[in-house]
Amino acid sequence: AEPERVAKVIARAGVSSRREAEAMIAEGRVALNGVVLDTPAVTVKPGDVVTVDGQPLPERERTRLWMFHKPRGLVTTTHDPEGRRTVFDVLPDDLPRVMTVGRLDINTEGLLLLTNDGGLSRVLELPATGWLRRYRVRAHGAVEQADLDALRDGVAIDGILYGAVEATLDSRKGDNVWLTVGLREGKNREVKNILAHLGLEVNRLIRLSFGPFQLGDLAEGAVEEVPRRVLKEQL
Ligand code: URA
Repeated sequence: AEPERVAKVIARAGVSSRREAEAMIAEGRVALNGVVLDTPAVTVKPGDVVTVDGQPLPERERTRLWMFHKPRGLVTTTHDPEGRRTVFDVLPDDLPRVMTVGRLDINTEGLLLLTNDGGLSRVLELPATGWLRRYRVRAHGAVEQADLDALRDGVAIDGILYGAVEATLDSRKGDNVWLTVGLREGKNREVKNILAHLGLEVNRLIRLSFGPFQLGDLAEGAVEEVPRRVLKEQL
């Protein structure tokens, strides 16, 4: 990494703006490796210790990602105006502050990714990132595999264009069918809307995977951190 001016390093750590950092240097409040600076024309190398008023700069927390097995009946929002329970009400207390990567509907269960990195969550939600989301779906109604195959070309419903959908008919049980559905966009209610277009009413929706991350046998309500090594390979 390029050596950076000390004021820039202070600003990047979130302590102040760069201008304010320069003012603090002029006031003799900033030290580099224990030596008080009297000029901003100093660069910082890896391993250098910068302090402001004797305090080391806060370390930027590294990006972390967790898998959460969302149970049904929880909304994916930090605060629900209707007072319904949210996913944040059931997360373990020892988790750092996290945000969800996208949302699952209240009655959808399965894999929901959590991260402490807002930039990462935005990138993963982008349609352009295009990670496959796989769902196991139970729906009321009848359908043939041929109807599902037609979804591969995408479908326009109520003016919204849904991209390619991979869907397979796994079994029929009474008035219901079980399907596996894969799509890459992450639009609002997309599985329900697409299947409703074929006359199917979704009554159970379980997300099995999001990109390379699999629900596997993670217990309902449980949270598991993606190991650092795996995260590095995938991101
Ligand atoms: N599609 C839906 O309709 N709902 C979800 O929660 C996720 C995908």
